[in-house]
Amino acid sequence: MGLMTGDQYKASLDDGRATFFEGERVDDLPGHPILGIAVDRVADGYDWLAGQAVDGVSPVMGVPTSVEELRSKVEVVHHAGMMAHVTYTSLMTLATAAGRIADVAPAYVERIQAFVDDATARDLRITQCITDAKGDRSRPPAKQDDPDAYLHVVDRTADGVVLRGAKLHITGASLGHELLTIPTKSMKTGEEEYSIACVVPVNAPGVKIVNTTYAPRGHDPRDFPISGADHYPEGFVLFDDVFVPNGRIFLDGETTLAGTFAHCLGLWERLGGLAAMADGADLLVGFAQLVAEANGLAGEGHIREKISEMIIHATVIRACLEAALSHAEAGVFGAVFPSELYTNAGKYTGAANYNLMLRHLHDISGGAVVTAPSMSDLENDETGGLLRKYMGTRRGVDGEYRTRLFHAIRDFSADAYGGWSQVTNIQAGGGLYAQRIVTRKHYDLEGAKRSALRLAGIAETDAP
Ligand SMILES: Cc1cc2nc3c(=O)[nH]c(=O)nc-3n(C[C@H](O)[C@H](O)[C@H](O)COP(=O)(O)OP(=O)(O)OC[C@H]3O[C@@H](n4cnc5c(N)ncnc54)[C@H](O)[C@@H]3O)c2cc1C
Repeated sequence: MGLMTGDQYKASLDDGRATFFEGERVDDLPGHPILGIAVDRVADGYDWLAGQAVDGVSPVMGVPTSVEELRSKVEVVHHAGMMAHVTYTSLMTLATAAGRIADVAPAYVERIQAFVDDATARDLRITQCITDAKGDRSRPPAKQDDPDAYLHVVDRTADGVVLRGAKLHITGASLGHELLTIPTKSMKTGEEEYSIACVVPVNAPGVKIVNTTYAPRGHDPRDFPISGADHYPEGFVLFDDVFVPNGRIFLDGETTLAGTFAHCLGLWERLGGLAAMADGADLLVGFAQLVAEANGLAGEGHIREKISEMIIHATVIRACLEAALSHAEAGVFGAVFPSELYTNAGKYTGAANYNLMLRHLHDISGGAVVTAPSMSDLENDETGGLLRKYMGTRRGVDGEYRTRLFHAIRDFSADAYGGWSQVTNIQAGGGLYAQRIVTRKHYDLEGAKRSALRLAGIAETDAP
């Protein structure tokens, strides 16, 4: 018990889990040439977090009870890497949901608390299984041609339930210990078997995880300075008749509560996304300014205008993050939650304008974003000298420096990781549509109408 070390974490993955990559089963995750790099990053996160422990508990665990604590947790979790982020988001989801179901389903709250205590004591990593395969999107779960399109209960005994279905795109699923498994949406009467929330160990019999990753294959790390050493797989998680004991079930058939978990998760997932976007927007500005300077165009009018627009974007995203934290609200159990309004508006703005920011960066940079020679070409006796000469732009702007800058820009924004980021910005945490709905719900629309009526000189009583 207590905080896990990186080495203990690596050993904990040797638990018989069924995990696959590019057609092959992977029994030794730490030793795998690609997934092993992700395991190393998670282990690094564990070792770093050991130095941040408070009273022997990882800062990833525990509900924030003040705005300052919320702010510092967001920073620590962001720094500790993806698996710390998804674990913190899972625990906050459970804390938020427990508060919302406490009156109607106190027995589930006790089970949630027992799980959280155990996960805290063992310093586990938890991933979030929400998104179902979903079949035909226009039809609800019970009206699909394939009843397994949404995860559901297919059998039950006095001791628990048997689950069948799939959860897709699950960040880090193979690298965690527990799968927090919750409905992806609200359910209606008749969809009781789909209204199931629980925690499932990654090595439970019947769980199979197929990994995908943007990680570069067979690469020279110098050509992939960002994604080469820091990447996490997504898991296609198959629940092939998985038994879940009663003590791990947090919802079972209560359709009216089915949406609660996903709604709670949305807030914390988007807060994490917003924090990442704030840093990402600053990086886009940094790359744009560096490449403009290296190209000799930093003073050019149209380049300055584009970078100014990127600066405004980055500043607005950070302002939304600040507002989400500063306007945090106290909730049940003394916990503090970020503002739904600013979190969702910020995440939406960051995602919706991301492509425009990339357009500016690529417009400013030039074609070498995708054609800069590799670092080993720069080392070749026959080509290296000439490549360095022509990749340089003036005295003081060395060809190798400029080549490395282009590799970083390509890796960050125009290669496998860059493409992954583009889609992820839009989809992770629910698509743009979901963020529009939540923002609208929390915005003071009536207040805005009253202001408009006042300015128009129309009495509120005259408005229809
Ligand atoms: C890199 C990455 C990491 C992710 N990590 C996780 C994770 O850890 N856990 C997890 O659970 N999920 C995760 N997701 C999944 C993410 O939440 C979903 O991709 C997202 O919610 C969209 O679902 P979908 O991919 O099934 O697309 P779809 O649901 O098919 O959506 C595609 C489009 O169709 C629209 N649409 C869908 N249904 C309807 C409808 N009935 N009516 C009108 N419009 C509709 C959507 O608004 C969207 O515009 C991740 C996704 C990515 C890309």
